[in-house]
Amino acid sequence: MQAPTIGGVRLPRGNGEAVRLPRGASLADFAERIDVDPAQLVQVLFGLGEMVTATQSVDEDTFRLLGEELGYEIQMVSPEDEDRELLESFDIDFDAEEGDEDALAARPPVVTVMGHVDHGKTKLLDAIRKENIVESEAGGITQHIGAYQVSVEHDGEQRAITFIDTPGHEAFTAMRARGAQVTDIVILVVAADDGVMPQTIEALNHAQAAGVPIVVAVNKIDVEGANPAKIRQQLTEYNLVAEEYGGDTMFVDVAAKPGLNIDKLLEAVLLTADAALDLRANPDMPARGVAIEGHLDRGRGPVATVLVQRGTLRPGDAIVTGQSYGRVRAMLDEYGKPVEEAKPSRPVLVLGLTAVPGAGDKFLVADDDRTARQIAEKREAMERNAALAKARKRVTLESFMAESKVETLNLILKGDVSGSVEALEDALLKIDVGDEVNLNIIHRGVGAITANDVNLASIDQGIIIGFNVRPQSRTVEDLADREGVEIRYYSVIYAAIEEIEAALKGMLKPEFEEVQLGTAEIREVFRSSRIGNIAGCMVTDGIMRRNASARLVRDGVVVGEGLTIVSLRREKDDVTEVRDGFECGISLGSFNDIKVGDRIETYEMKEKPRG
Ligand code: GDP
Repeated sequence: MQAPTIGGVRLPRGNGEAVRLPRGASLADFAERIDVDPAQLVQVLFGLGEMVTATQSVDEDTFRLLGEELGYEIQMVSPEDEDRELLESFDIDFDAEEGDEDALAARPPVVTVMGHVDHGKTKLLDAIRKENIVESEAGGITQHIGAYQVSVEHDGEQRAITFIDTPGHEAFTAMRARGAQVTDIVILVVAADDGVMPQTIEALNHAQAAGVPIVVAVNKIDVEGANPAKIRQQLTEYNLVAEEYGGDTMFVDVAAKPGLNIDKLLEAVLLTADAALDLRANPDMPARGVAIEGHLDRGRGPVATVLVQRGTLRPGDAIVTGQSYGRVRAMLDEYGKPVEEAKPSRPVLVLGLTAVPGAGDKFLVADDDRTARQIAEKREAMERNAALAKARKRVTLESFMAESKVETLNLILKGDVSGSVEALEDALLKIDVGDEVNLNIIHRGVGAITANDVNLASIDQGIIIGFNVRPQSRTVEDLADREGVEIRYYSVIYAAIEEIEAALKGMLKPEFEEVQLGTAEIREVFRSSRIGNIAGCMVTDGIMRRNASARLVRDGVVVGEGLTIVSLRREKDDVTEVRDGFECGISLGSFNDIKVGDRIETYEMKEKPRG
């Protein structure tokens, strides 16, 4: 039996079989899976109005369209699965069991401080840092590496607690969004002089959704009018019932500014950890964990703070985190001191990476440098393909015929630290200029602007935003020049937002509104075989103007629309304008359906200023 014809191409039809494709796959990849000639798929897709070459990365929507046409169910592999499969190909299972009971050792809890703005998160993190200066570290914590560890005496035992040193919810949610759960316990700060506020509830929701126990720090009890009991009362509505009210949440009254009861708060963290969590990990395996912060250090190159979650990290380890890899050259703690071993829950600043990882990128130690490099390179290739698929301008037959209705500003964001890139992205996505203009962030990352960024931008006519970063080299700058890619540099987020907003407004197609010019009544119709019918009119209102837009109204009904005053005469003379109260001859060009008694209305389209 002959294969049926699909879109003019002879192709065997599927029976709804599933075809799994990675992000950034091409028609050639699809063709290989279903054993057909890629050229045929190009042709079928062309028939569907999309022009794509066989090796171009194609987006999910296009694959689905093609799949429907050919009788296959397209399943795009999720980024998480893709990465899992990648690691499997290196015989690595990131989430493998850590070993039996004997292999596990207690590890410190990792704490994130959240709460409403101005309720004292930053002050509290400061106070905790000061409270716990280890004797020998008289200078205190000098380096902000994104996390720090304090040591607390509890039941006659010295115990450590790790604090993520970024107040606010962004870090917490950004990491969760990437599937990285770093936080064991949330300290929810609520100012006793203010009470439960929107971000208090937001923080609480994030923590509860992640199943993370909460310790409430009722802050600013030194302020007059502070009412800690009211906070306890308010929070019962959100299922946070204080222990003294018969619930299981610990509330501690503190004052971060004068440093009051900080020790009690730390104790509550340990008590909660012991009661609610089984915090153990295997320290005797190659280290794994999460990058919580990264930046480009002028002297030291890319540096990243990683939190070890299992195993022990040591200098010399071959590490890969996201698309960045390297051999750990040195590890530093929050005192700027070298660290020889980082065990579970220990945050350290790692030197020796090739690039800056993103907040939330998981890291692992590979068997050797080569493996680490290969994993990073494969990830980079996967990301590039996925970005290309997303960025590929959909050249459709339709868009050839009609101009697209939506204008899109494509942006690539590069910044010096992951936090600022995320903040900038968040703020940019909040710019609202209506439905006609889209802002599309096709790629983001930390570090210098690379040739890869420029290539991406040139494919989709994007603009590159460099936030405190510059092109990697002269070559990259030249490439941008050659490709006509604009790079804009900023060091202040607000400046970037303002300019982008202005650019978006500039991209808005002008909105036009109709402005009435005048009305004329047809008193007589002159027929001319040469130039068609001419309307002998009396201008009853406003003016008639040559080349103005016009419509013809008969008995109150528009019978001709989109017409033009092709010629306008007074007596025998061609004129440009005739005012009301005067007679004139009007030709509407090829439109000849005019009758005595009809009205000709003229109007102009004027650009409406944008608000
Ligand atoms: P964040 O926005 O939650 O990080 O809040 P901050 O830590 O920046 O604190 C906001 C303001 O409250 C600052 O002016 C602090 O000095 C002040 N503040 C924080 N904690 C206390 C406190 O315990 N007592 C008093 N009186 N003021 C505090």
